[in-house]
Amino acid sequence: MDKIKMTTPLVEMDGDEMTRILWQMIKDKLILPFVDLKSEYYDLGLLHRNETRDQVTVDAANATKKYGVAVKCATITPNKQRMEEYPQLTEMWKSPNGTIRSILDGTVFRAPICIDAIKPVVKNWKKPITIARHAYGDVYKSVDFHTDEPGECTMTFKGVSGKEHTVSVQKVDGPAVWQGAHNKDSSIRSFAKACFQYAIDTKQDLWFSTKDTIAKIYDGDFKAIFEEEFEHYKAKFEELGISYFYTLIDDAVARVIRSEGGYIWACKNYDGDVMSDMVSTAFGSLAMMTSVLVAPDGTTEYEAAHGTVTKHYYKYLKGEKTSTNPMATIFAWSGALKKRGELDGLTDLTAFGEKLEAACFETLNAGIMTKDLVGLVEPGFTATAVNSEEFLDAVAQRLQAKLA
Ligand code: NAP
Ligand code: MG
Repeated sequence: MDKIKMTTPLVEMDGDEMTRILWQMIKDKLILPFVDLKSEYYDLGLLHRNETRDQVTVDAANATKKYGVAVKCATITPNKQRMEEYPQLTEMWKSPNGTIRSILDGTVFRAPICIDAIKPVVKNWKKPITIARHAYGDVYKSVDFHTDEPGECTMTFKGVSGKEHTVSVQKVDGPAVWQGAHNKDSSIRSFAKACFQYAIDTKQDLWFSTKDTIAKIYDGDFKAIFEEEFEHYKAKFEELGISYFYTLIDDAVARVIRSEGGYIWACKNYDGDVMSDMVSTAFGSLAMMTSVLVAPDGTTEYEAAHGTVTKHYYKYLKGEKTSTNPMATIFAWSGALKKRGELDGLTDLTAFGEKLEAACFETLNAGIMTKDLVGLVEPGFTATAVNSEEFLDAVAQRLQAKLA
């Protein structure tokens, strides 16, 4: 069988721990036997990030901008405990995802991978719900402090023109806590563009929610920018028969729970953080969640939503076979290959990505799954727990049959 050809390289970002092991297995068993893989490889493993003083992360993000599509393995974000675990680290390097996100100015879209045997906790959810989380500002870039006497807090903006604007935050009669947060119109606009574009690409309705009844100016800015941007996408939305819908966050929560799913829910940074955990848990498992970073110009980076699965890695190091779920990482690969195929007009490559996903579904529907899923299976379905390698072999077998 001739291998499927590629014309433009895919940016490949390798990562850490158990997901790094899965990464190689997926390539060996599911990609390299079938695709003449053209990739520009960046090793984002923690020790290599350290050796390059994190330059490799920046290089990988810039390569993504250049080529348009990347696939990323989960990576360790060092904390105090990791600094002890890896004494050779010269700095507590920042989250690679954060670095890439800010270089690409991207929005993260997360969607569950649904199978018949695992029903969402919310009975009426029939289709996936995709959460689009704004990845800049608000409480994540806020400053806060505590005061211990009566007084007044004011907030001043100093313009480069020399103009100043001061408001009184509050007068207090005792100890108090304070917080100053911001967002940038440019970032909100990129967020809006990415959401409208992704809705068009995936032909789904877009919902957006904030609390503009309370934060009239702050959240009002988000609402207004989305409305302005929508004007540029309206015609395409009408043509596709999809809609844009704005509502208050509390109303959105109620509607989401009563809905059938099948739409994108755009959330501000904090709402997206919390709601994506709720939605993924209700759909089953983080190991069955895809995640894609979309830049306003359409540049995309595909990854898994979960981390490096450290506990499994330490079992693996002891020589144990682990039953780590590779689904989200496989779907990062299939998503990236499909996108590369679309952009380069390579129908074989796009079809390969689709067949790879179909082979995964067939495997799961045959009751062959990793341990994390077996416990979630509904009565009436049978499932056998296999280890990661056995799962990948079962997928490879089905994929081969589809490609023959
Ligand atoms: P995690 O790697 O997602 O794992 C947490 C637990 O969830 C695991 O111990 C495992 O539970 C279960 N799990 C997650 N993915 C699974 C899979 N594919 N198959 C089976 N079970 C799975 O989160 P963490 O332990 O909090 O973080 C570990 C490292 O990942 C940290 O260093 C963090 O910085 C990094 N991280 C990276 C990313 C990213 O690059 N996108 C995201 C999050 C975290 P059991 O042990 O019960 O089986
Ligand atoms: Mg979270």
